[in-house]
Amino acid sequence: MGRLPLSLIVLLLCSGVAAAQTNLAPAAEPAETAAAESAETAAVELPERKPPKPPEPKSGKLPGARELFASVPGPAPLAARAIGFYSKGCLAGGIPLPLNGPDWQVMRTTRNRNWGSPQLVHFLERLSSDARALDGWPGLLVGDMSQPRGGPMLTGHTSHQVGLDADIWLTPMPDRILTAQEREDTTAVSMLKDPLHVDPEKFTDLQIKLIRRAASYPQVARIFVHPAIKKSLCERAEVAGKDTRWLGKVRPWWNHHYHFHVRLACPPGMEGCKNQPPVSGDSGCDGKELDNWYSMLKKSAIWRTQQNIDPDAKPSGKKKPFPLGNLPNDCKTVLTAGGNELLSVDDELPPVAVKAAASKEAGPGVPLLSEAQLQNLLKGGKIGIPLPERNPVR
Ligand SMILES: [Zn+2]
Repeated sequence: MGRLPLSLIVLLLCSGVAAAQTNLAPAAEPAETAAAESAETAAVELPERKPPKPPEPKSGKLPGARELFASVPGPAPLAARAIGFYSKGCLAGGIPLPLNGPDWQVMRTTRNRNWGSPQLVHFLERLSSDARALDGWPGLLVGDMSQPRGGPMLTGHTSHQVGLDADIWLTPMPDRILTAQEREDTTAVSMLKDPLHVDPEKFTDLQIKLIRRAASYPQVARIFVHPAIKKSLCERAEVAGKDTRWLGKVRPWWNHHYHFHVRLACPPGMEGCKNQPPVSGDSGCDGKELDNWYSMLKKSAIWRTQQNIDPDAKPSGKKKPFPLGNLPNDCKTVLTAGGNELLSVDDELPPVAVKAAASKEAGPGVPLLSEAQLQNLLKGGKIGIPLPERNPVR
């Protein structure tokens, strides 16, 4: 539906006046107008002009799953279901998180990624209200959830495909309703003071209590944060209470220094929804995991500083192709449900997808090292190879 005007534009460009006679034109116009453009009228007028070229036949070939899912403006009208795995799946019966709630606001609204399973939407409503009432967190700024029908995205995340993942900014919600423009332009605040450490002025007890609150619900399977945030949580967890078992769900991952990522487990009994293995029960604070992360972080920081990488540059690497066939079979049903006509490789991306892909990064990049920090780290060991910037798939 959102795609039709585009099909029409493409067609008008390709075939000029012929557009009025194609089967696409009436669908985009009121029935009366279409009836007026009857075959007889056209037959009278056209011989006066040069016969228009017929439209180029469509190849009928499908683009990749990213383009297909990014182009659908609305949800699949089917029973709600998270289908497949977080990084390889789609969403049936998704519902939107309203842009404004009593204790939350959705950011980057042009991305149209405020969709989720009903379980995720209800979870965010509950978390925002509990965090405000019980922890003094003024309200959630909600980043990306999923596209209306889930699936892989043109930009950003590897996961967020099944309507069970949500990014939440670590910046408190301001005490007023943000304008649409502010939701596009405001940049989240990084909690880092350098590539390896949080800034305690920014990563305060309030943020710790918010993450603890999010981790405390049984339906939460994982929370992803930057390794420096994980380390700080390990050191300061008790500000949020003596019981620190929640720490085990909070795992380190790249990039999560201005937001944290909440991942729900598959709702019980939901067929075709694939969980990741549950956390082992350890806090993740001792032993190898955090040490490994720190050695990777150091290598990455050294390499990025030596290469003088612009921390805020958009990722340049092309994504690997993601054919529709990589997704569970039911995802094709999800795409076509409600009469949605699939994008063909001959179509341009519709505005909904173009806008989402062009939207500004939600937060700053990881800072580089100072010269003194660089020299210090170089004394400590060998320079490693650059590491891929990845999103959580574990
Ligand atoms: Zn995320």
